[in-house]
Amino acid sequence: METTEVAHNFHLIHARIQQAALAYQRDPASIQLLAVSKMQPLSALRSAIACGQQHFGENYAQDALEKITALNNPSLVWHFIGAIQSNKTRLLAEHFAWIETLASLKHAQRLNEQRPPQLPPLNVCIQVNLHDEPQKAGVKAAAVAELAQAIRQLPRLRLRGLMTIPAYQSDFAQQRQAHRALAFLRDTLENQGIQLDTLSMGMSDDLEAAIAEGATQVRIGTALFGTRLAK
Ligand SMILES: *Cc1c(COP(=O)(O)O)cnc(C)c1O
Repeated sequence: METTEVAHNFHLIHARIQQAALAYQRDPASIQLLAVSKMQPLSALRSAIACGQQHFGENYAQDALEKITALNNPSLVWHFIGAIQSNKTRLLAEHFAWIETLASLKHAQRLNEQRPPQLPPLNVCIQVNLHDEPQKAGVKAAAVAELAQAIRQLPRLRLRGLMTIPAYQSDFAQQRQAHRALAFLRDTLENQGIQLDTLSMGMSDDLEAAIAEGATQVRIGTALFGTRLAK
């Protein structure tokens, strides 16, 4: 995709975020755009950076490391949003600012041990499998509080919030229902004294529904960069 197309999409997405924020009485500045750059060439990331984008989401640790190294730009903030493999936790702990797909205490402990001392604590979100879909990663809603309490004991991790990838729905009201369930879970945890400032939910097709229910971060790939390359 050409730089001008990425720039065009970038402005369209910000307009969608702005409109949805206004429609649901939210401050647009409280909603962060995470540019999901998995399987996109470096040129696509450079186009987004030229528009001022700083937060990027990547799903594959090794691919991400190549991009992080090639761009070598300390103002970029890298979020890992893919499946965590135990043999890649060190790479994640060393090169990312955020891990949004944390779903096991074992991975949390490894990331905590492997986070380099000169870096600030690693921001993490617990990935929630809201409806217990067997093919999907994430912790069941009923198990989130226990994992959250355990993560809070790990000094090199900073628990920021919850993330989910709801089942695909074309209907706006149904999209909202899934996002509302994540917001409800966040409220439940806050009532137990666990403060969370991040709700990572909403992608290219459902960002309005996510914003309606309180998303603080929307993760946008195809609507920004177009179709992904094959893996
Ligand atoms: C790929 C991906 C996205 C982006 O999805 P699009 O539909 O391309 O916007 C968002 N979140 C996660 C976890 C992803 O893996």
